[in-house]
Amino acid sequence: MPYICLHCRKEVKALEKNFIRCPYCGYRVLSKKRSTLAKEVSSS
Ligand SMILES: [Zn+2]
Repeated sequence: MPYICLHCRKEVKALEKNFIRCPYCGYRVLSKKRSTLAKEVSSS
């Protein structure tokens, strides 16, 4: 599942499960790329 870097907004492929870092800017806060975030939002 691809991720989106929250810093540079580039798509990042998840090479490792527990440690994912943006190869472009080194940012470590990524968001899962989904068309709808309804499931994550309504988790509670
Ligand atoms: Zn980045």
